[in-house]
Amino acid sequence: MKIENKYRCPYCGFTYRTEPGRSLFTHVLAHQDANVAVHAVILVCPHMDCGKAEVFVDAGSFPAALRGKAESELQGIRYDLPGAYFKGRLLPPFGGKPELRAADVPEAIYRDYDEACRLLPVSAGACVTMARRCAQKMIRAKFRLKPGKFQNEIKTLGTLSPPVRQEIIDALDSIRKAGRFRALPEDEIRVVSDVSPEAAEQAISIIEILMSDWFLAPAEHDDRLVALQLILNKKQ
Ligand SMILES: [Zn+2]
Repeated sequence: MKIENKYRCPYCGFTYRTEPGRSLFTHVLAHQDANVAVHAVILVCPHMDCGKAEVFVDAGSFPAALRGKAESELQGIRYDLPGAYFKGRLLPPFGGKPELRAADVPEAIYRDYDEACRLLPVSAGACVTMARRCAQKMIRAKFRLKPGKFQNEIKTLGTLSPPVRQEIIDALDSIRKAGRFRALPEDEIRVVSDVSPEAAEQAISIIEILMSDWFLAPAEHDDRLVALQLILNKKQ
């Protein structure tokens, strides 16, 4: 798994630097001749009130850069294994965050979000389609927009007073684009598997950030914008 220098804790929202031995613990189990490797990663939030762990595992080919190296040198890698055939977050289970099921979050929005999370392991495409529907409901509820085409609704956000920040518009647009073809039944066959699990995870992460920013306490607004920016940078 690729591990960025800056990381946002999914439990408390704290953004921190990933430091091996302090907040980042990784291990590679590999067999060079069989050309397989498994990369296990634990991230521990350094915030004193949190301290919770995230666990990731991915499996792929033996990285060429590690050929001929000793077992001890196989540790501490921060990049995706080549030819990864499994990639997943084991802890916390992705999405379905109960804290977002609050009285301030409209029920229909939480339901779409929860369903998008459930669809993720089954179908990234279906997940993004649901995330897109959720995002559209969110902007209508938050900004009291007249229902229209999603693309136009997103554009409208920039003309409001005060205008919605560009990071948020870009984030919404990325969900719109990822879920775009899926939303058109006539294109169904053409684009059955064009959404990666990563893109689907990113769409859900964006939804989570905006849900808590728009409908829950605005206290950590700036942190959430940083988190959005990190997600958008990752996409490029
Ligand atoms: Zn934390």
